[in-house]
Amino acid sequence: MERTLVDPLSLLAGPVLAYWWAIALEPSWHTHAAHVEHVRALRAGRERAEAALRQPACPHCGGTLDEYVYKTGVHIGQAFQGCTRFPACRYRVDLPAR
Ligand SMILES: [Zn+2]
Repeated sequence: MERTLVDPLSLLAGPVLAYWWAIALEPSWHTHAAHVEHVRALRAGRERAEAALRQPACPHCGGTLDEYVYKTGVHIGQAFQGCTRFPACRYRVDLPAR
């Protein structure tokens, strides 16, 4: 029966290489993860800024306008555009029915 001798050092080669790669790659992986998070935050900030620009400004107070639906009164169910600073600002304009 033939016996195969295995060099004990070759048994260590795999784990040692894996450990070395983990150490070598770890900083770049952290840098990559931080970069991805940074870009994600930038993109979210830009989307918020663009959304704010798309929102029309209130002609009375300079606040932002948003769409609402009358919940009471004769216009119940109809959409209107009103100032988000309500009740301090009561500007509103009825939107055409869709
Ligand atoms: Zn206003």
